[in-house]
Amino acid sequence: MYTYESSKTLFERAQQSIPGGVNSPVRAFKSVGGTPVFFEKATGAYLYDVQGQRYIDYIASWGPMILGHGYEPVVKAIQQQVEKATSFGAPTEIEVEMAELIKSMVPNVDLIRMVNSGTEACMSALRVARGYTGRNKFIKFEGCYHGHADPFLVKAGSGVATFNIQTVPGITAGAANDTLTCAYNDLAAVERLVQEHKGEIAAIIVEPVAGNMGCIIPEPGFLEGLRRICDEEGMVLIFDEVMNGFRLALGGAQERLGIDADLVTYGKVIGAGMPVGAFGGKRPIMEVVAPLGGVYQAGTLSGNPVAMTAGLTLLKALKETPELLVELDEKTIYLKDGLDAVLKAWGQPYVINQFGSMISIHFSDQPVVNFATAAASDLARFNRFFHALLKRGIYLPPSAFESWFLNNALTKDDLDETIRAVKESLEEIG
Ligand code: PMP
Repeated sequence: MYTYESSKTLFERAQQSIPGGVNSPVRAFKSVGGTPVFFEKATGAYLYDVQGQRYIDYIASWGPMILGHGYEPVVKAIQQQVEKATSFGAPTEIEVEMAELIKSMVPNVDLIRMVNSGTEACMSALRVARGYTGRNKFIKFEGCYHGHADPFLVKAGSGVATFNIQTVPGITAGAANDTLTCAYNDLAAVERLVQEHKGEIAAIIVEPVAGNMGCIIPEPGFLEGLRRICDEEGMVLIFDEVMNGFRLALGGAQERLGIDADLVTYGKVIGAGMPVGAFGGKRPIMEVVAPLGGVYQAGTLSGNPVAMTAGLTLLKALKETPELLVELDEKTIYLKDGLDAVLKAWGQPYVINQFGSMISIHFSDQPVVNFATAAASDLARFNRFFHALLKRGIYLPPSAFESWFLNNALTKDDLDETIRAVKESLEEIG
């Protein structure tokens, strides 16, 4: 069984100079307890901590490392680019290639702007939707996470849910009042909000397959209904594909589910592990973005050549070998079936939600279809489950409010080892 003495020492030191010892809250293991593991290197499907202990990785840096860590073509491309230049703050051909490649892979993107994170992508997309419609309010779903910009930190998922933060200090009432929320998968509630605020709502933003309250699957008709409502009311439908994009299909959730968005946001896979996000969409909407239009949006390091090279190389690999995503889905189904068998034999209530290469387990006796049902699951049991697996070298997200992400470097042996470890862990936690 693994121990964490070196991580403990580093965590104590980190807390002297970094808030909570981490640069992003979920990393602190605050809700699961214990010491966050400090890592040193990663190859393929494996992470190695500062004590040299090996973990099978089910986080994949929260999505980006879809073909595994240290994917050679990406590493080589980064090395070559660094020799040439790390940043210009001026246009490059790589940015043009990146925009063209994305347009060739993804539906409904005529124009696309690169940014440095999923947060920036979502906050910019919302600003564009507001600028385009001249309306202020928007609808988001409880438990969905669209980054940490002010308007989104209302009933948000991910770390905000993990730490049970109801109202985020620092967000003004003005910002919060323009955020309308309702339950994911509840189309009738969306209809009600739209009637109550007729002509005031600029956009609906949604994670098509949600990953920030565990993995939650859209019920048939839900996303189709959002599309219809947006068309009827002149509202912009924003698909937040920061998790789904280039993972659920080359064209993301739009392609996989066959539903058109007006604006789409990307992050994670698009940067292959470098800090990249993007927002794009239909030409008449995106034409409001500066310098074409008056909706200002900018970034010193946006379209950074090293980050672009990394993302471009990974996206090209996915496009040139479409079987990779098919294989990844097959591996996820293999894992799901194996987990299902050991969980069934264990005999306590559980729910596995899986879509493409996103999967999560909730300890619940009812279907998990939205934030309320995710939050009603046995979170204390999840925490014990997490630690039992961690000390057996299986690295899961440290919260029930997060999806697991598979990467294609995982082998059948890795998946079998994981299923065995889950069986042992369930026996241990009872
Ligand atoms: N949208 C979604 C769906 C996300 O999952 C995340 C981050 N997990 C974000 C936006 C924000 O991205 P970032 O952390 O890169 O700012």
